[in-house]
Amino acid sequence: MQRIPVLFPLALGCYDYAHSTDLPVGTFVRATLGRKKLLGVVWDKKPDETFPENKLKPILEVLPLPVLPHKTIRFINWVAGYTMNALGAVLKMALHPEIEKVSKKPCVFLPPNPNFSTIAFSAAQEKAVKQLLSLKDFQVALLDGVTGSGKTEVYFEAIAHALNQSKQVLVLLPEIILTTAWLNRFEKRFGVQPALWHSSITQKTRRDTWEAVRNGSAQVVVGARSALFLPFKELGLIVVDEEHDASFKQEDGVLYNARDMAIVRASQAPCPIILASATPSLETYCNAVDGRYQHIHLPERFAGAMLPDIELVDMRKKEKGPIKFISKRLQEALKEKMEKHEQSLLFINRRGYAPLVLCRACGTRLQCPHCSAWLTEHKGAGVIQCHHCGYTRKMPNECPCCHEKESLVACGPGVERVAEEVLTLFPMARIAEITSDTLTSPEQFEDLLNRIQNGMIDILIGTQMLAKGHHFPNLTLVGVIDADMGLAGGDLRAGERTFQLLNQVMGRAGREAKKGLALLQTYAPDNLILKALQENNRNAFLSEEMSARQLLKMPPYGKLVGIIISGKNNALTYQTAKTIAQKAPFMKGLDVLGPVVAPIAKLRDKHRYRLLVKADKTLKIQNLLQNWLKQVKIHPSVDVRIDIDPYSFF
Ligand SMILES: [Zn+2]
Ligand SMILES: [Zn+2]
Repeated sequence: MQRIPVLFPLALGCYDYAHSTDLPVGTFVRATLGRKKLLGVVWDKKPDETFPENKLKPILEVLPLPVLPHKTIRFINWVAGYTMNALGAVLKMALHPEIEKVSKKPCVFLPPNPNFSTIAFSAAQEKAVKQLLSLKDFQVALLDGVTGSGKTEVYFEAIAHALNQSKQVLVLLPEIILTTAWLNRFEKRFGVQPALWHSSITQKTRRDTWEAVRNGSAQVVVGARSALFLPFKELGLIVVDEEHDASFKQEDGVLYNARDMAIVRASQAPCPIILASATPSLETYCNAVDGRYQHIHLPERFAGAMLPDIELVDMRKKEKGPIKFISKRLQEALKEKMEKHEQSLLFINRRGYAPLVLCRACGTRLQCPHCSAWLTEHKGAGVIQCHHCGYTRKMPNECPCCHEKESLVACGPGVERVAEEVLTLFPMARIAEITSDTLTSPEQFEDLLNRIQNGMIDILIGTQMLAKGHHFPNLTLVGVIDADMGLAGGDLRAGERTFQLLNQVMGRAGREAKKGLALLQTYAPDNLILKALQENNRNAFLSEEMSARQLLKMPPYGKLVGIIISGKNNALTYQTAKTIAQKAPFMKGLDVLGPVVAPIAKLRDKHRYRLLVKADKTLKIQNLLQNWLKQVKIHPSVDVRIDIDPYSFF
């Protein structure tokens, strides 16, 4: 009789089972857990020899599936250890629900042809390509180039290089729904589409892709975060495009940063990894400046396209008239572009009509009954909605508090309201609103891109969905409705994120021969971040930010961990948070801040408190946290979540 450790795709650790023969690590088996018969994987963990052998349950069935590759198992172990999650929770991300089903007619993944077409490169691009091709084993490269400098085409050459060596390639993109343009470029270069991995592919495609990645017939996979956990047969290159993008951080379930984990995956392969960005994250930039990463520059825009002129529009000067959100300067610019038949983009990073509805009669603000958050008005749909929990109700026609009729007024702008104002100013304008409410599928997005490309739209109005890598040759004006918006949060990365986002939005203007113009509306024209944007001085901004973080020992110069304590019973939740803080170890290089009420004090009916742990980089923070939290008895109704390297602080 052998003891076999089995891991199930559930938020648990391994359990031992009995089997007549030894089974190789990675074998798929079926065994009972509680009363259920579940699929599990034989894991590379020492069995617990102290458990009496006669009490072990048997493995019910050894499934006739290929084993899970050893490197995938090693990666799962690493991610679980680093993020302090149960092994099974991470395994769940690496499998899919239909793993036992075999397709009768599996999808065919045609091999990309590395020699399908060639691109004429500039001298700078040629040099960058050469540097990328010389990357060996595990090396990290930052491909650092302004928007429109041809980063994608340059890293395509590294993909071709890996394909020539019969290796697989993984490309991670943020907001995978918006990848149509990227896929077209890929097809132009390699003759076929790559394999896709994201939440909206069908179960069958998911099943076939997973298997094709495992047996090596899917050679290039483009995916969202979770593609990292695919069972690659022979991974030879990883590319993380827009590496700075906050959406690489998963904020529910297992909290992990796909960019950081991709670096770990590359080190285990081992294979090179390319991080591409026009506005690198501070973490990556520091590593490049310090020489730990190769720093590859692409200094100029492709085909001589110029960066846009940037103007700050001071909104403190009150203008008369009923128009609220679009300044005179921006109105003039929009008018001029319409007359020239050029396109404009208005950026406001807020969905809906207005972020707040209040009663003129009694001052009540409409709040979500489940969260400490205001309800956003969606005028088109006639509803008010909580953007945190999704709570939605019909827009009331009287105040729910004082019952005064027609007393509710919208405060502040969202995409819908800016669109309404544009139509007041330019009734003939053909506009398109672009948010996650209006675009829900890749097909819709493709249709919109076609209408933009064919000149059927004059003014685009949208959220950050618009900011990502699209190429609109006739778009020459970008108007940022509220450049101050992102700065208000005041968290660690507020400045960095604002800089990245606005830089990216502005990069949409004038990507071909026509010079672009970007207008930033602001109430704080002296703000350093806006100044740096205006002067196109990214490195000055990064250096400033770097020295500030260094002084405060904030990431990347120190480590941060968020501990979020939440529960329906407020007193019990707070008590737990306080006990955790009291049990914190005293040691040099460790600071524990809090507990404080979280900025979103209530979310989905749960009260929330936060602790922030600041630690020297030399401390083994995971071990420390584990020993520390072991000493606190946590009531089952209270949830304690650990967020290593937090990105959101709400
Ligand atoms: Zn009222
Ligand atoms: Zn809510």
